[in-house]
Amino acid sequence: MPTKYIIVTGGVLSGLGKGIAAASIGHLLSSKLKIIPIKCDGYLNVDPGTMNPFEHGEVFVLDDGGEVDMDFGHYERFLGVTCKSKWNLTMGKVFDMVRKKERRGDYLGKTVQYIPHVTDVIKNHIFDVSREEQADLVIVEIGGTVGDIENELFLESVRQLRNDVGSQDILYVHLTYVPIPYGVNEQKSKPTQQSVNLLMQRGIFPDVIIGRCSQFLTKEIKAKISSFCNVQPSAVITGLDVEDIYEIPIIFEEEGLPEIIHKKLNIYSPPDLRKWKRLVDNIRNPKREITIAMCGKYTKLEDSYASIIESLNHCSAHLSCKIVLKWIETTDLKDTSFLDEVDGVIIPGGFGSRGTEGKIEVIREARKRNVPFLGLCLGLQLAVIEFARNVCNLEGANSTEMAPDTPHPVIDILPEQKEISDKGGTMRLGGYTAVLKEGSLVHSLYGEREVSERHRHRYEVNPAYHSIMEAGGMVFSGASRDGRLVEFIELPHLKFFVATQAHPELKSRMENPAPLFYGFIKACLN
Ligand code: GLN
Repeated sequence: MPTKYIIVTGGVLSGLGKGIAAASIGHLLSSKLKIIPIKCDGYLNVDPGTMNPFEHGEVFVLDDGGEVDMDFGHYERFLGVTCKSKWNLTMGKVFDMVRKKERRGDYLGKTVQYIPHVTDVIKNHIFDVSREEQADLVIVEIGGTVGDIENELFLESVRQLRNDVGSQDILYVHLTYVPIPYGVNEQKSKPTQQSVNLLMQRGIFPDVIIGRCSQFLTKEIKAKISSFCNVQPSAVITGLDVEDIYEIPIIFEEEGLPEIIHKKLNIYSPPDLRKWKRLVDNIRNPKREITIAMCGKYTKLEDSYASIIESLNHCSAHLSCKIVLKWIETTDLKDTSFLDEVDGVIIPGGFGSRGTEGKIEVIREARKRNVPFLGLCLGLQLAVIEFARNVCNLEGANSTEMAPDTPHPVIDILPEQKEISDKGGTMRLGGYTAVLKEGSLVHSLYGEREVSERHRHRYEVNPAYHSIMEAGGMVFSGASRDGRLVEFIELPHLKFFVATQAHPELKSRMENPAPLFYGFIKACLN
């Protein structure tokens, strides 16, 4: 069978959930097909690793160390694949490749132009990935909305793709917005018509239109979109606003999307959503409720912590409990009385000194009051600092990231990071193995002695302080194979006080919640 392609574009507004739509389509087809997602982003950064989470949401990290768009989180969670950094194509990467080719002399004698040279690089990249992965189906998501200048070259490339692969092997999906204006109380198709029009001006004729709406699309609106946009009424699909993104594949199935794709692409891969539905049902009808404090400095934009939120959703699905998040901005934290009202505390990853003293204070109180605590990356580093200061009496202990002149650098830069001056893609990134301590809580949660989690950091627990911390009662329950790098810590006499240098939230799946999160939520429930 030749490789099939589904191209997902968006219109009207950004933020309608193209990534989730693409991932959900993939989920519905994944029972028999090897599906590879590719995301094209129009910005000129080589990857999102150097962007502020406020600008771009969470930076997702892959096993291979790639720092990629957060949509890869959705792809991995919905498709069950382990993605590769090559599958995220940014305009920054594209121009980098074109420039290298030009300097090498690949275009000798020619004027290097957007078409065909840049578009060829884009298409060849897509074909390379498809060939290397022996994909049955490649889902290409084009970031942004049609009409954005920065996406024109990607749109032109996927337009050309139709001629390269043949129209029987490619399907175009366009996600738009169907508003119901206040007072009019009627679903409106005009934004969709205009957006499809823009797409058609670029030579792309969608086979499927997904209309994001707060209600199911009516028969009438489907008929109208169908006649104005040249698609079958059955190919106009509701992209319903939902509380919980895991409902989207279920809604797409109800709306008949798999049949349309099967018919057009001549593939058959019947979705089996039984288990998925059961888990979603647990999220929808929880038996219990707990409140977790999330203490960070990007708390104004939930996208900055997308994978943590999803990991908690996975726990909800398995433990049938609603998890209410209480966002605590730690920059000017005045008091920690909020701890009276929560069942547990998460200190997520972060960079720089803003908000760290507030977080250290929260950790101290959580430790003293025996409130379950989960620390992630920076969360581990701050837990070590707190313990050093308040239990081991190392006055002024700190990380050299926040206080380069601290008398007790209990957290210090990794030796291999000292000489690095470039900021892009140079942290300790990706999957690394940790060996867990026999009989520790972390060991019992993972059920294995060796585990691999993903990382994104420059600092570590300073080996010069290991023995002082251990003498004070902190257990280093996991370390790198050579024993130098502390990967997990715990305080065994407390209900749940665990932190890791890694980001276990990046590997959590609906069917398989991250063990640390699962253990943490269970402890909060008790
Ligand atoms: N800023 C810390 C470091 O670089 C923690 C990073 C993180 O939390 N991802 O080590």
